[in-house]
Amino acid sequence: MAAPDPNKSTDNPETTPEEASTRSLHFIEQIIENDAKTGRFGNRVHTRFPPEPNGYLHIGHAKSIILNSGMAQEYGGLFNLRFDDTNPSKEDVEYVESIKEDVKWLGADWGDRLFFASDYFEQMYEYAVQLIKKGKAYVCDLSGEEIRATRGTPTEPGTPSPWRDRSVEENLDLFQRMRDGEFPDGSKTLRAKIDMASPNFNLRDPVMYRILHTPHHRQGNKWNIYPMYDWAHGLEDSIEGITHSICTLEFEHHRPLYDWFLDELGVYHPQQIEFARLNLTYTVMSKRKLLALVNGKYVDGWDDPRMPTICGLRRRGYTPESLRLFCKVIGVAKFNSTIDATVLENAVREDLNKKALRRMAVLDPIKLVIDNYPEDKKETLVAINNPENEADGTREVPFSKVLYIERGDFMEDAPKKYFRLTPGKEVRLRYAYYVTCKNCVKDADGNVVEVHCDYDPATRGGQSPDGRKVQGTIHWVDASSAVDAEIRLYDRLFNEPNPDDPQNGGEYTDCLNPDSLKIISNAKLEPALANAVLDERFQFERVGYFTLDKTSQKDALVFNRTVSLRDSWSKMAQK
Ligand code: ATP
Ligand code: MG
Repeated sequence: MAAPDPNKSTDNPETTPEEASTRSLHFIEQIIENDAKTGRFGNRVHTRFPPEPNGYLHIGHAKSIILNSGMAQEYGGLFNLRFDDTNPSKEDVEYVESIKEDVKWLGADWGDRLFFASDYFEQMYEYAVQLIKKGKAYVCDLSGEEIRATRGTPTEPGTPSPWRDRSVEENLDLFQRMRDGEFPDGSKTLRAKIDMASPNFNLRDPVMYRILHTPHHRQGNKWNIYPMYDWAHGLEDSIEGITHSICTLEFEHHRPLYDWFLDELGVYHPQQIEFARLNLTYTVMSKRKLLALVNGKYVDGWDDPRMPTICGLRRRGYTPESLRLFCKVIGVAKFNSTIDATVLENAVREDLNKKALRRMAVLDPIKLVIDNYPEDKKETLVAINNPENEADGTREVPFSKVLYIERGDFMEDAPKKYFRLTPGKEVRLRYAYYVTCKNCVKDADGNVVEVHCDYDPATRGGQSPDGRKVQGTIHWVDASSAVDAEIRLYDRLFNEPNPDDPQNGGEYTDCLNPDSLKIISNAKLEPALANAVLDERFQFERVGYFTLDKTSQKDALVFNRTVSLRDSWSKMAQK
């Protein structure tokens, strides 16, 4: 959880617009502070995250979780986790459990306030009866298709339902019988009686309840009618005493309906506030599309490290702190935009640079033989675990005559500016010695299989006593003690910045990147990596950030690349 900003005073409610801008409050913070000033909610702040348990959470949800729980934390308020489980046909307990795990992992604390909208069904039913009694809701026999067809157009009002003027008694009787299961699915609805001529379609007698003979994952067969989102959501917020009901921009035109229901009932009335949803390039973000990727076996499940799901990002090696940093960088806005995927990648780089332990790993190995190094000699050299954090200390790395280096770190005929191994050139082996390249050995096809060099024993630790400079430093792994590993290099799942754009000429599945996963099966790692555990993050020097995959076994290590390094070395190492 982000630490409270010491510059933000919460005990001074007299926030002028100038102050707000110098403290760079985003618009939701400004609303909350203004409400505190007027005493609107008695200085309370109470937010919620209301997922529908119909899929795994994605990074867009992470933004909402971080924003909602962050506001509660920043203003000393409360945060609820509430499952909006009003649509039993798509929901599942599997999703409930995964969502809880993801919200917890992000560090959002709901305390003992875990709620389910379905627990309020009885109360919602009573509220609906109240509206019927007020003449503000009626049972309608039109089919869904007919309701849509009579909605009107932006320029023409809708046509009132022939059932709009049923008596209160008849409506009460029919609504009770809908609940009791007397009527088939789709044969009747309960609609709010608002205004068929409203310029806002949401107010043209919206459906509040539909008949659905589908068991509910928590309520079993108790209900034959289920509330619609717009009816249910404000009630859920009201029942829980939410102050600021933060949702995404597409609900802006639903706000008058949110307000209408609560005003007509005369119950406690939270403030709905809309913000722009997160969109990312090279990503699709809807649960429906993510589910299709899983079902179509385009990816290896919801937690495939290429997925923008929270569990996928976690498996990939993202940290909760990196996602919070990302949210801080992109801010909270009132207009829609698409964030470049590099912003997310840079956030995880920034976070991992501070905390990842450095290790040496060779992804595309060839042998480096030190001709003048004694045949049986073995020594251990000292390497720094994390130059960004002295407390991480050092480790010992074995060294002997035969090492592995990256194939890309040797070139037989190199251009002038090539600072790595080429005959006649001296380079530093990280933490070890200066070596001078002599020649190479090739196989029958002309591929380099061994590089030969001489080392300078006086440069132990990678320092020259005579101040001699080398322009290149390369990483290496001692061949006799190296551990083997499989390395999974992930790239973007799509090769179009906007896979959803119909201008791409097809479905988003048509622009999947065929090279989004590259598996390296013969990587060589320094022995310390054999003890890696899940959730530990490493920087493989010059290569990128990596974490152990959940399928990894003691004798069959598997690492996922979280993200490459930004510098040009990484590009060369990937080749
Ligand atoms: P999707 O359209 O991806 O299936 P959803 O909005 O249907 O998502 P819900 O479970 O209803 O998913 O969403 C829970 C909360 O997460 C809502 O308050 C919603 O506004 C928010 N949310 C969903 N997607 C995003 C996003 N891309 N950016 C920010 N918030 C989001
Ligand atoms: Mg939804």
